[in-house]
Amino acid sequence: MQRLQDRVAVITGAGSGIGLATAQRFAQEGAKIVAVDLDEAAGTKVADEVGGLFVRADVANEDDVVRMYQTAFDTFGSVDIAFNNAGISPPEDDSILDTGIEAWRRVQEVNLTSVYLCCKHVLPYMRRQGKGSIINTASFVAVLGSATSQISYTASKGGVLAMSRELGVQFAREGIRVNALCPGPVDTPLLRELFAKDPERAQRRLVHVPIGRFARAEEIAAAVAFLASDDSSFITASEFLVDGGISGA
Ligand code: NAD
Repeated sequence: MQRLQDRVAVITGAGSGIGLATAQRFAQEGAKIVAVDLDEAAGTKVADEVGGLFVRADVANEDDVVRMYQTAFDTFGSVDIAFNNAGISPPEDDSILDTGIEAWRRVQEVNLTSVYLCCKHVLPYMRRQGKGSIINTASFVAVLGSATSQISYTASKGGVLAMSRELGVQFAREGIRVNALCPGPVDTPLLRELFAKDPERAQRRLVHVPIGRFARAEEIAAAVAFLASDDSSFITASEFLVDGGISGA
């Protein structure tokens, strides 16, 4: 028996990076995958690869979020794992002195409001089932702050971490675990896009990683699979750091 045999997993941002690697890993471990993304081509590709279902949705849109869980439930009969992972990188000049209110709002919508919506609308399914695992993607910057001036991004991820803790505590007695995944820098299109705008930033970031390199998306996916599975049955409301040692240095 595989660890996630027949569990139904809804993964947002499944078309790329951490979400893509997690869809592949979950499928290897026996899960049924609902791959959610704004990018139809990328989302369809991963759903086909893992034998799952693609739902095109904007996670910042409440109607879309309601529809994606309803579709998952109607198709597979349960929603056991929610990996609320879709997110965007900070805008250029994301220091508090430079970030405009519209850019700030957009980052909060996609990175933080989306997680609120996903938790709000998946919890009723999990409460009826009396079990479930929710993993919300925050970041190491939620715990440590950032030396690279990204105020809207860091604030959004701090919100994800605080919300995950609160929900983890609130729903612990109902068999629902909620954890905040806090990755260090991961070699994905999101990070590459950020460093393309500011190449020196990559070097500045790298010196803070004791392991001496950025993570591979597969290394983050392995941690997500652990949090999704019963192997982590006593872990909830945690800030789960997968950061190559950054937080210890
Ligand atoms: P990525 O850009 O490779 O993938 C993100 C995916 O989310 C894309 O497929 C994109 O189409 C999708 N997406 C974006 N906005 C969406 C929306 N509104 N609705 C639905 N889908 C949407 O990024 P990644 O590096 O894999 O990042 C995934 C998560 O991990 C993000 O929340 C990010 O903030 C977080 N994170 C990344 C790193 C890193 O270094 N890469 C570190 C810590 C945390």
